[in-house]
Amino acid sequence: MDIREAREALKLYFGYEHFRPMQEQIIACILQKKDVVVLMPTGGGKSVCYQVPAVVMKGITLVVSPLIALMKDQVEALLENGIPAAYLNSSQNAEDQYNIENQCLEGKLKLLYVSPEKLLSPGFFSFLKRLQIALFAIDEAHCISAWGHDFRPEYTQLKALKQQFPQVPVVALTATADKLTKKDIQEQLNLLNPQVFISSFDRPNINLTVKPGRDRLNQMLAFLDRHRGQPGIVYCLSRNATETIAGKLKANGYKATFYHAGMSPQQRAKAQEDFLRDDVQIVCATIAFGMGIDKSNVRWVIHYNLPKNIESYYQEIGRAGRDGASSDALLFYSFADVMNLRSMLSEGVKTQTELQMVKLERMQQFAEAAICRRRILLQYFGETMEKDCGNCDICRNPPVTFDGTTIAQKALSAIARTQEKANMSLLIDVLRGSRNSQVMQHGFDRIKTYGAGRDINSIDWQRYLHQLLNAGLVELAYDQGYTLKLTEQSKKVLFEGKPVQLVKFDETKQKEEAATVKARPKREIVQDALFERLRGLRKRLADEHNVPPYVVFTDSTLQEMAAEKPANRIAMLAISGVGAQKFERYGHDFVNDIINFMTEEQSRGNKLKGATHLVTFEAYQKGLMPEEIAIQRNLNPVTVYSHLATLYEQGYAIRIEDFVTRTEYKTIARSIEKLGADAKLKDLFEELGEGYEYYKIRLSLAVYKKEHATG
Ligand code: ADP
Ligand code: ZN
Repeated sequence: MDIREAREALKLYFGYEHFRPMQEQIIACILQKKDVVVLMPTGGGKSVCYQVPAVVMKGITLVVSPLIALMKDQVEALLENGIPAAYLNSSQNAEDQYNIENQCLEGKLKLLYVSPEKLLSPGFFSFLKRLQIALFAIDEAHCISAWGHDFRPEYTQLKALKQQFPQVPVVALTATADKLTKKDIQEQLNLLNPQVFISSFDRPNINLTVKPGRDRLNQMLAFLDRHRGQPGIVYCLSRNATETIAGKLKANGYKATFYHAGMSPQQRAKAQEDFLRDDVQIVCATIAFGMGIDKSNVRWVIHYNLPKNIESYYQEIGRAGRDGASSDALLFYSFADVMNLRSMLSEGVKTQTELQMVKLERMQQFAEAAICRRRILLQYFGETMEKDCGNCDICRNPPVTFDGTTIAQKALSAIARTQEKANMSLLIDVLRGSRNSQVMQHGFDRIKTYGAGRDINSIDWQRYLHQLLNAGLVELAYDQGYTLKLTEQSKKVLFEGKPVQLVKFDETKQKEEAATVKARPKREIVQDALFERLRGLRKRLADEHNVPPYVVFTDSTLQEMAAEKPANRIAMLAISGVGAQKFERYGHDFVNDIINFMTEEQSRGNKLKGATHLVTFEAYQKGLMPEEIAIQRNLNPVTVYSHLATLYEQGYAIRIEDFVTRTEYKTIARSIEKLGADAKLKDLFEELGEGYEYYKIRLSLAVYKKEHATG
């Protein structure tokens, strides 16, 4: 067995042309029966790493997976691809389980998914001994590690697999990257000198943006307007917030729902199902949502509130764009959230709290950063990037710095003169010369810096003060009502005139961004329209077949269709993600819809490249003769015949015998035989003694090519 077979299986069953980096090496190892550990981010393509070997290896592959909902999804997707698979877990009754066990014994399945409980249940190993097992795949392998966040004690018993089946290779897969987990996986599973593959945890297709958390609802509505119909998740801090925000989105005409741990299991299942099936566009959720969701077409994630650490943030934004198509992660950052989180964290155990506080600070630094955000993230996970990503707000809109010494001095002096007793909002009030009761009560209206910063609005003041905090020029007394304090460093600025650089935030650029959305080339607009149409078709077919839409085709596959406009079988099979079975099941409907779309566009006067023969086809179907079509379309009749020939080659129902008799064809075919199928029409014409018209030769060529096509 070699990798070539695996490549063929990738194309045939999954419709993909190439393995992603690492997939091929991983699969090569497995085919050589070596143990393998795979650390790859969500969406990296882990499933292919064991599903392709499962297809090409003799026997059955056993996949251990802890999440019942995911199992069901995976099996559904495999069946759609024409790969026989099933799952066994506690959600099934005895009869169902019995049937599936029989299918295994009869050698009818290529993959069997089991929960760890099922695997370790009495008698199951002796059942396995009766099967020919090709491979064990341990999904979510980090569950084995007591260090991790998803520790499952059953997983530690999986070492029995290697003891009982020493000959069968094991592949352990996880999206968790830390070193301890990796070590635990190797040791606890008793793997034999495994090959470890660690891929980059970068998710370059996710665009990262952080915006100040004010007027969030309107900012969100503007964002949604640019993401019409695209599925996404809004993460909120509280259960209450999920419900209110979902309500507001609904009031604005969006199909939104909410999800949190306080709902009944039925309510939660319903919300999740509606989202998976694209029946609702938006889920407003607490962090309880997302684990075990395989939906590949989540196009965006909004953090309505600041997450409590970078791990959570990265995991949550990772739910977007698993299909590799471009996706957006938008984080709203406000200082109020930081304070909220701090007070929530401070209620915990002390040792834990300190660690959590440090993590929160890193999260905050990320949100306030003025350098490429992806660099910060990857750095956090121990990876270094060679250059800036180009796909975050900072890269797209690099902050401009200016000499902010005077601004800093005003702020620091105000802190000094309020005797370090003001929190941020009070300090801003003082600087801006507000007459509110707090200011008056403290008598801050009588200090020298009162009103010294009137020229700067309060939002900008807030940003500058955050920068001063980050630069260590101001400190926040968390234990004294969040009042602002001076530091050693700030004294240098105040008394020695040490210069301070501040970052200027430019609102106009954001407006430009919004404007560019409108001024797009026509080609893209047409492409989007087709994409939307195909998305509608996908939804209808998915409902008919009772599967989630992304199981029919992923968004990236639809995008490629919208760009390439495959109008026949061969072109459709060349689209990434269209395998043989998927084509049989859905391909025709998509081809037809693309043709209809193109003919409509054409009749509206939109010239589309490559579609002209399809207009001919439409006229032909209406019963027009080629000559009539030529007149109607103002074309040379030979061109129309050539369209018919192309259509015939592409598998359209053209009755060639109406134009060339069988006897004529036989004679022409002999000349083609002689000169070759790629001979010029003119040469064939001469070879035939100028006795046959060009169009007959052209049509005969089409028939000849089809008859002699390989495969
Ligand atoms: P993971 O399990 O690592 O989160 P998946 O196995 O679900 O990732 O793969 C993520 C997406 O990438 C899926 O839509 C999958 O079909 C697609 N994919 C996997 N391998 C390839 C490949 N070689 N070429 C194109 N798409 C791929
Ligand atoms: Zn960047």
